Order: sequence, then C-alpha cells, then structure tokens
Amino acid sequence: MLERGYLKATEGNVSVRVAGHRLYAVTPSNYDYARMRAEDVCLMDFDARHVTGGAGGADVTGEGQLAPSVEAGMHAGIYRERPDVHAIVHTHQPYASALAFLRRPIPALTDEQARFLGRRVAIVDYAPSGTGFLARNVRRAVAGGDNAFILANHGVVALGTDPDRAVFTMALLEKVSLAYLLALTTESGKVHTVPAPIREIALTKLRADQKRIAAQVTQGLPPVRVDAAEALPSADAVAAASVTEQPARAAEAPTEDDGPAARPGSAISTYPDVDDVMRRLRALLRQPVRGLRHDAMLDVLQYFETRCGSSKEIAERARRRIPGGVQHNLAFNYPFPLAIDKAAGAHLVDRDGNVYLDFLQAGGPTILGSNYAPVREQVEAVVRESGPVTGLFHEYELKLAEAIHRHVPHVEQYRSLGSGTEAVMAAVRGARAFTGRKVVIKVGGAYHGWSDTMVYGLRVPGSFRMNAKGIPFGATSRTREAFPHDLGRLRRKLIENRALGGTAAVVVEPLGPESGTRPVPFGFNAAVRELCDEFGALLVFDEVVTGFRVGMGGAAGYFEVTPDLTVFGKAVAGGYPMAGGVGGRADVMAVFGSGLDGRSGAHVQVGGTLSANPLSCAAGYFAIEEMARTGAPVVAGRAGDRLARGLQRILDRYGLPYVAWNTGSIVHLECSGVMLLDMHHPVQLLRENKTRKQLMERMGAAYAAHGIITLAGSRLYTSMADTDAVIDDALDRFDQVLSQVEGV
Ligand code: PLP
Repeated sequence: MLERGYLKATEGNVSVRVAGHRLYAVTPSNYDYARMRAEDVCLMDFDARHVTGGAGGADVTGEGQLAPSVEAGMHAGIYRERPDVHAIVHTHQPYASALAFLRRPIPALTDEQARFLGRRVAIVDYAPSGTGFLARNVRRAVAGGDNAFILANHGVVALGTDPDRAVFTMALLEKVSLAYLLALTTESGKVHTVPAPIREIALTKLRADQKRIAAQVTQGLPPVRVDAAEALPSADAVAAASVTEQPARAAEAPTEDDGPAARPGSAISTYPDVDDVMRRLRALLRQPVRGLRHDAMLDVLQYFETRCGSSKEIAERARRRIPGGVQHNLAFNYPFPLAIDKAAGAHLVDRDGNVYLDFLQAGGPTILGSNYAPVREQVEAVVRESGPVTGLFHEYELKLAEAIHRHVPHVEQYRSLGSGTEAVMAAVRGARAFTGRKVVIKVGGAYHGWSDTMVYGLRVPGSFRMNAKGIPFGATSRTREAFPHDLGRLRRKLIENRALGGTAAVVVEPLGPESGTRPVPFGFNAAVRELCDEFGALLVFDEVVTGFRVGMGGAAGYFEVTPDLTVFGKAVAGGYPMAGGVGGRADVMAVFGSGLDGRSGAHVQVGGTLSANPLSCAAGYFAIEEMARTGAPVVAGRAGDRLARGLQRILDRYGLPYVAWNTGSIVHLECSGVMLLDMHHPVQLLRENKTRKQLMERMGAAYAAHGIITLAGSRLYTSMADTDAVIDDALDRFDQVLSQVEGV
C-alpha cells in the first residue's frame, strides 16, 4: 500500500478480520504509516469497541494508547454484514472526490469491474452527521455484495477476501475511476462542468497512469475459445491403434490442421503457437495475481491438517535429519511434502491412504506410467541373477546403447552415467576436449543439473551467478548465457567468444528452458545448428526430459535437427536409478574412450562405480523396447492434448487469465507466470517473484487437496497410463479448483 502511495500520514486506514473471532484489527487514527509498528494496531470487536490497543498498547508519541481510526465503526459494520470480507482498505483518493462531486456512480464499464468490484461503484454520503451516519450508509451499501464504494468527499473503500485482494480492489477501482473520469471530462461540452482544480488533480494523476492503464487495456487478450461441444483428443483411440499397428504408425497420419510440425510417431500432434502462448504469458504477468478465494484456501489447508496427518508427522521428523526436509525440490510441496507409499500407473497413494492422480510422474521418466509391471518383472529377473551391480561388464549395457542407437540413429556411441547432471558435465567436458576450446553457451533460465559449470543463469534469464552460491568464479568463468530464443544475442556471444579461443558447445533444451516453459519458436533449433556450424561449436541437446517423451527419436527426431552430442536422463533408465548418459557422433564420443581402450590420447575422466550397472541398463533397455512396442510416447502425448485442451475449456468458461498449453505429454498450466520473470525487468522480478511463486505453490496445494499431483503447481507430465477416463477425472477436479479462484 505504501509503495503504491495509497497510505501516507493521516490518509486512510486498513483493517483485517481476526479469523475465528468476532474481532478485527484496524490501524490507529491519524496514523503515521511511515513509522508503522505491529503493536500499534488496535483490536476491535464487531460493535466497534476497542478491545485493546495491541500488545503493550504502545504509543509512538508517548501520550498513551493509540486510538483506533474514527472510521472503525464503518469497518465493524462491513465485517458484520459481509462474512466473506476479511480485509478493508479506506484511502482518500482525489479521483473519488471528483466523481462524488459530479454525483456519478460508476456503472460496470468492463467485465473486470463487474466481476471484482460489483455491478456499480456507488457513491455513499459521509455528511451530514459524521461517522455513525457513514457507517450505516456503508453497511447498507455493501449488503448488495459490491466490493468498492466512493465516499462523498472522503475517498474510497475497497473490500477483499484478504489484504492482497483488498489492495487489488483498490488498484482496480483507481483504474476504472480514472478511465471513467477521462470519458466524462473529455465528452464534448462537458469539460466545463468539472471545476478546474478538481480537473487538474484528476488529470495530473491520469497522465501519470495513462501509460499503465493503456497497457492494461490494450493487452487484454481474447480467451482461447473451446466450445462446450468440442470432442477432446483421445488417448484411448491412439492406444487402441498402437496395439494393432506397427509402433512407427501409432501416431495418426498428419493432417493439414496439424501444421508444419506434425510428424508420424511423434508425441506432439500440433506444435504450439509460440507467439500466442508468449503473448498470453506476458499478459498474465501484467496482471495482479489471482489465487483461490480465502475461504477455499482455508479448506485446502484444512485438507492437509485433517487428512494428511502421517505425512505431516514424517515431514516434521525429516526436517530434523534431512536438510530442508526433502532430497529434491520436486518433493517440496506446500504446506508440507506428502509421503508416498504406493505408485501404480496413473495413481499415487500417500501414507494416509489418500489417492492422487499423478501428473508429476517422478519429474518425467515414467512415460509408461509409474511402476510399469512388464519392465519391473524384467528388472527383478536381472537383479535375481546378477544383483544390482558387479563392477564388470554386462550385456545389458550394450543392449541399451544399441537400443538408443536404433531409435536415435545419430547417437552412434553412448556412455552410461549416473544422472542428467553427470551427463551434462560429461558433454561439456567432452566438447571442450574435442574442440580444444573452453567457452560453453547455454540458454538463460534453463536447468541442466547442478554441476559447477552449469549453475549459471538458472531459472531466471539474465541472472548469471545469482544461484551460484558455493561455486567459485573460476568454475563459471567460461560459461555464457544467451537470452532465451534471441538468435541475434547468441550470434553476438559466439563472436565475442572468438577472443577467448572460441566456443566449445552450445547447450540447449530443444523445447526451451524448463521443458518448454518458455517454448522455442519452431525453427530455433535448426537456426542454432547453423550457428554452431558457422562458428565451429558443437551442438548439445539436453534431452533429459524430451528423450523418448517427445517420441522415440526424441526432440532431435521431432525437429529433424541433428546435434553432435545428446544428453539423456530420466526415461533412459525407465524410471529406475542411475538415469543418465551422453551419446553422439562417434568421433566426438571417442574422447571418452581414449586411454580406456589402450590407445593414445589423454583420458577424459567420466564415470562412476555404479554407472552402467545391470539394473539401470536393463531397466532402460526394457523400458525403451516397451515404449516402442506400445507407442507409449504417442499415447501419453495424446493424453496431454486432451488434458491441455480440457484445461483451456475450463479457463475459458471461468474467464481466467491463466495459460494452458502442451507439447505432447508435457503440459503447462501457468497461473502466475513466475517462470517468465527475467532480469530484463529487474524491478518486477524483485517485487513480484515471491508473491507469484507463492501463488504457484498454493495452487499446487489446492490441486493436491483435490487429488491431483503436479510438478510445482505449474507443469504436468502425462503417461501411457492416462486413459481418457483418467484425464476426464482430472479435468473435473481442476474444474472444482478453478471455480474457486477469486473473481470467478
Ligand atoms: N537437464 C534437464 C533438462 C533436466 O530437466 C534435469 C533435471 O530435471 C537435468 C538436466 C538434471 O538431471 P538429474 O536430475 O538426473 O541430475
């Protein structure tokens, strides 16, 4: 409020309901907000009686307890009348005086106004007889359910389900008031009816806000229209086809509607309209956050309290013995991580017996569905025979490399490693050794694991070493980040690097950072390939997520772009441990062999005791063969289509600015746009990062309380286990959650 300039000394008051009591806390009379202290707040009952002046009742002026605001009676009346209101803001805005002077209540000018403020913003009289009169008038006015009022000569009142909401109501009221005043005062022949001083006040403010308002108005985007009668894409139909047809033909033949990107055997039926997705994401970022209504959020927390007691107890114990309470941030669920006991197909069961639809799918590896029996049985057989590791060679290591080569032919040789992180480390080291150059370029915002070299420009593009705590400067001194999908900037980096001996490799996630949270324009990868060729750099595709998920040929097969090296992870071990490896051109891959095969050349050190153990290699081999046999990537992709389209229909129905899109089985549902913040807009990043992240976490919790597990509340991986019935069940649950968003 202070930042926005709404509250300065003596300019208004703010109150919040005390949950579970007939009490509210209100700021003191004639209060200096610049010196605000928690203990100054006055606690009042619903008859506007001052219960206490706060803890200690301290007085900044030293003259005894602070008196509550003289408008406390108005606040009491509103809380009595409106149980849904939990926060009230009252400020003395000059535009309100101008409108009150004109006796012009604001009719609903926009859908936004009607939804959030009410049918009209009424003018309520303060005079003639002071605050009692005001309190009665306001109480009568709020009974109709509207959330904002103009007090004649005394500013405005904005109500909300929580303080953020009340501030948003105030900001929206300001926006519509100024627009309305502008319309009134510029209407031909009417300007003279507004006295010059008032006009000046209103118009000065208007000029300052003009740009902001214009941006908000012009950026309004039509929703993605999904007709209620539209049949959603069917995973069942594709699954049925893939049982009777050859796997390569499991995908339906591309039609003209699928656009240029349709590929047989690919999980992606239609490549998203990237410009449109980005426009919507930017529009989302320009809006104030919209989360669940306060009462609905309390129900969500109640679910965790009452239904997840065992998970809570385990989480509390874990906090004592495990740093941060979890081993990986995938499990970091607000308000506490759920302890999962069972996983099968599309479902998870937690320690308390609650069943969830699983759209985390372990962060991506289980394209066949969780704990897929045909692979598990093969793995069990191998472990029974050889145990999980011998340290010596096992044929499944070769079978895995051969299977990968069969489906991804440019992977002529493959080296198994322990994780995606290790595989990226190896790719970078291999590229440096092969080219004799040092610099690697990544795309800002992308996550390539946690190795020293690559924790750079993590999550937030342009943030360089912001997350590199514990990593010495030397480790990142030869890492560069290019802003997402800016080919001009990438070229400049490649030119700059010449002075440092040239670029060893450009590393990209082929769908865009964070599994395409910032989706790449379709031609981006091909353009990067050309730049790499021009500058003699190796192209490394990080296919940790996309490998087999986008189709058996990975993203390289989909985009028809051949990288020099490919990093695998996750699905390459079918959801079993030690999921990682690097593969590619035989001449480049040879750097990992030199020294080992007894021939010349320095040894490029990669590997580990448990790399290439029979368990992981057999799991990977059988999972790949099963995916090819069943057409799992395509079935999962079509389930993703059904989910994304269904989500778009719900968002459309409720008029929500959230953005849903998918590339096959990778589905995005952005409610806050936090992943789109960047260092090009540092002030917004600083101001909004926390709130937007919090919203994402809370929505994640709300989905979980309705039986849906997502990746951090914004991403959903589908699998072959997601039949149409599973997706439809999920859509019903999403519908329940999204119907509870503020303003719906
Ligand atoms: N690269 C990408 C694109 C990833 O998404 C991840 C992990 O999520 C990694 C690398 C790191 O893989 P791992 O977690 O197996 O170390």
